[in-house]
Amino acid sequence: MEQTEILVVGGGPGGLACATMLAQNGARVVLAERKPVVGPKVCAGGITWHGLIKHVPPSLIEREFPEQLIVTPRQRLVVAEKNPIIATINRQRLGEWMAGQAAEAGVTLLSGARVAELAANRATMERDNGQRLTVTFEHLVGADGSNSVVRRFLGLSTTAMGLGLNCMAPGAHPRMEWHLDAPLFGSGYAWIFPHCEVASIGAYGDCRHFTAQRLKQRLLLWADRQGLRLDAQTLRAGLVNFDYRGVRFAQGWLVGDAAGLASGLTGEGIYPALVSGQAVARMILDPRYSAPELKTLAHKHCRHSRVATFAGNAPRLCGPLMEALVLFLRMKIIDFHSLEMAD
Ligand SMILES: Cc1cc2nc3c(=O)[nH]c(=O)nc-3n(C[C@H](O)[C@H](O)[C@H](O)COP(=O)(O)OP(=O)(O)OC[C@H]3O[C@@H](n4cnc5c(N)ncnc54)[C@H](O)[C@@H]3O)c2cc1C
Repeated sequence: MEQTEILVVGGGPGGLACATMLAQNGARVVLAERKPVVGPKVCAGGITWHGLIKHVPPSLIEREFPEQLIVTPRQRLVVAEKNPIIATINRQRLGEWMAGQAAEAGVTLLSGARVAELAANRATMERDNGQRLTVTFEHLVGADGSNSVVRRFLGLSTTAMGLGLNCMAPGAHPRMEWHLDAPLFGSGYAWIFPHCEVASIGAYGDCRHFTAQRLKQRLLLWADRQGLRLDAQTLRAGLVNFDYRGVRFAQGWLVGDAAGLASGLTGEGIYPALVSGQAVARMILDPRYSAPELKTLAHKHCRHSRVATFAGNAPRLCGPLMEALVLFLRMKIIDFHSLEMAD
């Protein structure tokens, strides 16, 4: 049995950001991560200029793209800016860097520690070595992603969920591409996000309309039409929770995907995880803290969710809506940055 002031469940960007800020301000923090190493995650690794590009060390950036190619069945548009609009990072390296900062701040990092049971002020973990460890705490932070055990413990259901399929395919791709192909992906899309020697190629769709199998078939069909050879065996699926109900609950806190703060429209979730992780840390440290950054994020999230839900409920309108979106981007009536989670 171990004791701590704060238990953070999950070592993704949300949990690591939260734990680091708490420890930097003198709190005793244990972070439990079920995987043997912190970092790896099914993810395209895209970060935005207004979001994270300026806040991570340049050495973590793999490629930067001041141009975005957007393709629909009827249009091709290149959005170009002076600064990179989106850059790509390797999630394992981001995790390693953030875990280093957490350890430096004094966080006790337990990897290979899956939180299996929760009760008021007590969590039981199953360690990779077969041992069970019970930790008692004063505060519980659920940062354990879209299939959060903490969220279920707090009594919250999840209905608004996205599904992403991703593979890291070898090959040189010069451009970052978004394919808004409504007949194939509904309100979702397929992407090519180039990294150093591989490219993230994948598709995103609303779970209310796509099973993993259906999205996979559509992705492979799309890839075939693009002349891309995807190895179906290397495709990995991940959930993107966008069912946001708040961060503070009677028996604990939620951040990032566990809180449902990813964008329902694009699936962007690294920035919301970091911002909400730090905001929750500040709220635990100072109960009077009003978290304006969280309010801004929740506002953006709500707008993305409304559009995603509207488009999802009107599948026949998805095609015209996508075409209108690209037309408005072309005419600069809509700014590409309004599709980002950062303001
Ligand atoms: C295919 C795909 C592509 C994506 N591409 C992008 C992108 O390009 N840009 C972007 O911004 N976002 C992207 N996202 C979303 C992004 O990956 C997530 O929103 C982000 O990782 C959320 O961070 P988090 O810290 O909240 O959760 P996570 O990163 O999911 O971290 C949660 C951690 O908790 C751990 N955990 C889970 N259960 C337990 C347990 N019981 N005990 C202990 N530990 C546990 C997990 O192992 C994991 O390490 C993508 C998602 C998918 C599925």
